[in-house]
Amino acid sequence: MESVAEFRERARQWLESQASYRTADTTTQRWGEGEFSVTVFHDVSDAEEIEHVGKYKAWHHTKVAAGFGAIAIDPAWGGLGLTKAHDAAFKEVEAQFDVPRDHEIISVTSKLIAPTIEEFGDEAQREMWCRRFFQLDEFCCQLFSEPGAGSDLAGLSCRAVRDGDEWVIDGQKVWTSTARISQYGFAICRTDVDVAKHAGMTAFLIPLDAPGVEVRPIQQMSGGASFNEVFMSGVRISDEMRVGEVGMGWKVALTVLGHERSSSGGSSRGGGYDELVMLARHVGRTDDPQIRQDLARSYTMRRVREWVRAGAAARAKATGSSGPGGSITKLMWTIEMAHTSAVASRLLGASLTADTGEWGTFAWNEHVLGAPGYRIAGGSDEIQRNIVGERVLGLPGEPRVDRDVSFAELARQQRGG
Ligand SMILES: Cc1cc2nc3c(=O)[nH]c(=O)nc-3n(C[C@H](O)[C@H](O)[C@H](O)COP(=O)(O)OP(=O)(O)OC[C@H]3O[C@@H](n4cnc5c(N)ncnc54)[C@H](O)[C@@H]3O)c2cc1C
Repeated sequence: MESVAEFRERARQWLESQASYRTADTTTQRWGEGEFSVTVFHDVSDAEEIEHVGKYKAWHHTKVAAGFGAIAIDPAWGGLGLTKAHDAAFKEVEAQFDVPRDHEIISVTSKLIAPTIEEFGDEAQREMWCRRFFQLDEFCCQLFSEPGAGSDLAGLSCRAVRDGDEWVIDGQKVWTSTARISQYGFAICRTDVDVAKHAGMTAFLIPLDAPGVEVRPIQQMSGGASFNEVFMSGVRISDEMRVGEVGMGWKVALTVLGHERSSSGGSSRGGGYDELVMLARHVGRTDDPQIRQDLARSYTMRRVREWVRAGAAARAKATGSSGPGGSITKLMWTIEMAHTSAVASRLLGASLTADTGEWGTFAWNEHVLGAPGYRIAGGSDEIQRNIVGERVLGLPGEPRVDRDVSFAELARQQRGG
């Protein structure tokens, strides 16, 4: 297999033939020059979002054709079958070039849903969906959370009832990111109410243009509406859209969530140390001892997260399981984002809340308002701490008094019956 260093060099040469170096790169960016964005959630219209995703998709297909796309993916699904280290090396070089930027829907489709179908789907489903989702031909969002089931996902009540070769789905999902621009939703539904809640769930792929599906946007405080409510009334899907055995939905869901934690822990979304240093220089605070401490902390957090993530990836490769490593890096990322928000706020004072038109100042507002979202998405900070407490530190588990009670009985108890 080609070494990572050789692959990186070959990738750089190819990228140089395709695009120019990014002038607005933060390592070379100068105050007032180019575009400045530390946005966590983009505030764009559906049309702009579809255009952005379309450009990324076209760029992805160019990479695939040149042998630089789907790098760590199985050749059976059009990938190169190289290692995650090759993938990371390509991404590192690619980030220096002016090419279409990644989007949340890309990682949900190709890093969360596609590998889960690869693991739980039958042969026909793998043939049908893996290539499609790994290659970003179509997109899939995650239909897990409900108004009454978030952290306690196993309490979900969206029903799927079998009717011959079909399933009929009724219920509501919420906080569904990218549902308006996805063709499919990967849903966990309740298929048996007479067994304990973790045992009565099943996973399905739902075409979002099926009759009975209604997607309604939810407005965010940072602007934009990247997530949605999804209502399903009498939605009929074939049994071929069931992923995994009936009753295995909890295991499937945990696999998706494990991939989600691992991939979000590596995010650089919303900027961080480089942008803070540039801002501190501009406002003349780099001699301030408090700010110096803040910046040192920001740099340290980023570096330690990178190392912890590399360790977790190596362990996952060796053991075949991502384990609690993803929870640690996801938590480190959200703590780092909160620190970035706090330092930017200290540096900017009132300029954070009043748009004076000055370059690189009010834009931080979108970071401060967006960052808290990721303390909740993909499992809240408290839930990640529970996982680390129980599975890394070996602390006593949370009381799980409802573990052996059937879902129907729990529902009766909740109604006070
Ligand atoms: C930006 C964003 C994007 C999202 N995208 C999607 C998506 O695409 N698809 C999807 O299905 N969902 C999505 N979600 C939903 C997300 O997964 C849930 O919001 C999350 O799991 C928390 O559930 P909840 O909102 O019901 O809060 P709750 O579970 O009601 O929690 C409320 C509070 O109680 C705390 N808490 C709950 N249980 C415990 C416990 N056992 N110990 C300690 N503290 C606890 C929580 O940490 C939180 O602070 C998204 C959310 C956000 C913010």
